[in-house]
Amino acid sequence: MVKMPLNIGVDIDGVIIDFISEFIKTYHSKYPRYKRLKKEYIRRHSLESVLGLFEEEVYDLIERTTVYGDFKLIPGADRVLSEFTSEGDNIYICTSRPERHRLRTIELLDNLDIPRKKLIFKGNGKKLDVILKEMPHFDIFIEDNLAEAIHLSKLVSRVLVFRQPWNNNCMNVRGSLKYVNSWDEIRKTVSEYRRDMAPTLL
Ligand SMILES: [Mg+2]
Repeated sequence: MVKMPLNIGVDIDGVIIDFISEFIKTYHSKYPRYKRLKKEYIRRHSLESVLGLFEEEVYDLIERTTVYGDFKLIPGADRVLSEFTSEGDNIYICTSRPERHRLRTIELLDNLDIPRKKLIFKGNGKKLDVILKEMPHFDIFIEDNLAEAIHLSKLVSRVLVFRQPWNNNCMNVRGSLKYVNSWDEIRKTVSEYRRDMAPTLL
């Protein structure tokens, strides 16, 4: 059977690596007297509104975390992305990290053996608008930011929302999003998509 390569977009923080655990460490070390934070308390994407801190304080925490964080892989991300690559699929990693962290981010992905065809920094735009400049058709995008995921679903065939406490409550009334809980589930979902896309041989 002829296999069509898929164009797969993948977010970094909250999908490939566990950013928030390092953020929580940064928060506790900067504000040892403030209330303790746990991942499950973070039920909104906006950390300002979760914590009740000023925008510039959260910016500083994110910046320190990005620079000093000892990031761990979300289990299976490296293995499953390598499997997609060896099957011929194109992996476009698209991040909301600022462009100034490009070298640091490349080093991180290299250290974690994350394969990709291209790394895209979205800058100030929405991810959908930025990735379409790279590639006119995306089959799959894996994202943990609900606002981005909903926007991506305008044109990306299948948008997978990597389930996290901050994106867990979307009613998904249009049915255009699919929650996934692990990289093994992503593997399975992509295989199903590939099977559905395969031309029927008469
Ligand atoms: Mg993310």
